[in-house]
Amino acid sequence: MEFSDVENDLAEVLLTESDIHEKIAELARAIEADYDGEKLLVVGVLRGAVMVMADLARELKLPGLEMDWMAVSSYGAGTQSSGVVRILKDLDSDLEGRKVLIVEDIIDSGLTLSWLRANLESRGAASVEICALLRKPDAAKVEVDVRYVGFDIPNKFVVGYGLDFAEKYRNLRGVAVLAPHVYS
Ligand code: 5GP
Ligand code: MG
Ligand code: MG
Repeated sequence: MEFSDVENDLAEVLLTESDIHEKIAELARAIEADYDGEKLLVVGVLRGAVMVMADLARELKLPGLEMDWMAVSSYGAGTQSSGVVRILKDLDSDLEGRKVLIVEDIIDSGLTLSWLRANLESRGAASVEICALLRKPDAAKVEVDVRYVGFDIPNKFVVGYGLDFAEKYRNLRGVAVLAPHVYS
């Protein structure tokens, strides 16, 4: 759906569909250069990364590419991620000796991804790198070495292109800041 379909729920448009597609093509060229001739395993983190995985994987000219998925959830009382992560759905692939690229929608505190990278490394992967479409530099609680980043954005709650609020707005083509009246 378009921004105009949920106009009253949005405070500010950050990225249009074409901003995103342009950036994904750029990221894909960088990834292709780094994994030329390799059997790369891309791991999408459900559910937010569904859109970026679908677009990035199709853009990548890597014949050896395989796709797998994980679902994780952060324990914790509030809405903040606690850093204690629970695996809701594990990978089907054996990571031993594999070159792995984690594909994420957004890095906020960085806690989820830093846990995830360590977890995948402990399974014997040859390498584990991260590609995130969005990053909030002002929200970082831990430093995460992210090889491929799409956009640095302000520390505001955003929706669209896979990102939800209460499971809604994932099907928005672009990314926008949610209007405060929606969650208050
Ligand atoms: P972190 O562990 O980096 O704090 O949390 C990352 C996860 O929190 C993301 O994968 C995403 O699911 C969720 N998240 C963080 N910031 C936002 C945001 O602005 N909007 C939405 N919809 N989800 C977010
Ligand atoms: Mg995510
Ligand atoms: Mg969510």
